[in-house]
Amino acid sequence: MDFLRYQDNELFLEDVPLTTVAGAVGTPAYVYSMGAFIGCLTGLEQAFQGIRHLICYSVKAASNLTLLSLVAEKGMGADIVSGGELFRALKAGISPRRVVYSGVGKTRAELLEALEAEIFMFNLESEDEMGLLAEVARERDIVAQIAFRVNPDVDPHTHPYVATGLKENKFGVSRDEALRLYGEAKKNPWFKVIGIDCHIGSQLTELGPFADTMEILADMVRELRGQGHAIRYLDIGGGLGIRYDGEEPPGLQEYAQAVTKPLAGVKDLTLILEPGRAVVGNSAVLLARVLYNKVNGDKRFVIVDAGMNDLIRPSLYGAYHGIMPLEEPKGGIPLDPASVVGPVCESGDFLAKDRRLPPLAPGDLIAVLGAGAYGFSMASNYNSRPRAPEVLAYGAAFQVIREREGYDDLVRGEYPGQLNKTL
Ligand SMILES: *Cc1c(COP(=O)(O)O)cnc(C)c1O
Repeated sequence: MDFLRYQDNELFLEDVPLTTVAGAVGTPAYVYSMGAFIGCLTGLEQAFQGIRHLICYSVKAASNLTLLSLVAEKGMGADIVSGGELFRALKAGISPRRVVYSGVGKTRAELLEALEAEIFMFNLESEDEMGLLAEVARERDIVAQIAFRVNPDVDPHTHPYVATGLKENKFGVSRDEALRLYGEAKKNPWFKVIGIDCHIGSQLTELGPFADTMEILADMVRELRGQGHAIRYLDIGGGLGIRYDGEEPPGLQEYAQAVTKPLAGVKDLTLILEPGRAVVGNSAVLLARVLYNKVNGDKRFVIVDAGMNDLIRPSLYGAYHGIMPLEEPKGGIPLDPASVVGPVCESGDFLAKDRRLPPLAPGDLIAVLGAGAYGFSMASNYNSRPRAPEVLAYGAAFQVIREREGYDDLVRGEYPGQLNKTL
């Protein structure tokens, strides 16, 4: 995280001392760097300048309207997986003509909303879904631009919960099934077949699986074109990993080279990229305040005011997030193993396990690193904890881009003591 550094013993994000943010908005709080976020988007744009492409930011990674409006300002699009994400993308000013819609379980209502919004491309994931979209398109007299999501059966070498391109995963359809479905779709006047889609998983740190997938997709483009399908778009999904701990993910240039190489000789093709984590993952930190210290048996615990409801990745995936005290530890201070845990009533509620940390007193502040992707977007109200605010830092300034929830937010839509009236 280049935008994060100690200066005069204090942790800064861009030119904002994070202690100031914590003082102004309280903790826990997510703080994003606008420079980091935009830098990643433009870095990708540059890496792919040799080939026609469209970047469709993956909304589910971090879906705040302000972040999405930055994507819109860049003239980029969105990769969505629900009607709610379509709503967000449009509200943020992203053109529907730059929206691609993935996901195995789109409902009739969601398909209809997307059709009426005239999104760019439906990435269909099953024959049943194709049937339903055909029905809705006919009823509304709107032609749907489609692609099929191919499951190439390539091992992405990542956490099993975020591997999506293996044949045992629920995503996409096999190459052979896809070829059959393209044949079916071609006969339907309510479909315009324009592309092929794929997304093999998240947090990939090797190029091999991307390259193998692209070989398969390049062959499919040739084969389908040979059968008379006007394939003009190749949606290669997201998945590029970032550095949380010791990982050494490929750089953007290497990534671009690896995915474009198998396409040499394939003409008139526009790539669609769906990056999420690689754009926003290392663009934000989660601030938390130390509540208590305790030792149970021989285990040292630092109890903080952020928990698994705020950042579930450690609990869900055993994910690693770096921890940095907001006050730089002085040289020579002993670092002892400690687990950083939250207030939630689950033993699985931890942010970091057995890390070498300096003494941290109640009231001290820490930053949880790499919290931008699948951080706030996966936050919940579990244990009736209001969700943390989101803040955007830019230069020496910062602004709240989503307010901290209050207790009223927790019970909105509930009806205390009105059982008879509501039944
Ligand atoms: C989640 C998802 C992405 C983004 O993945 P990252 O690993 O965050 O880049 C892209 N496309 C689809 C279809 C997804 O489900």
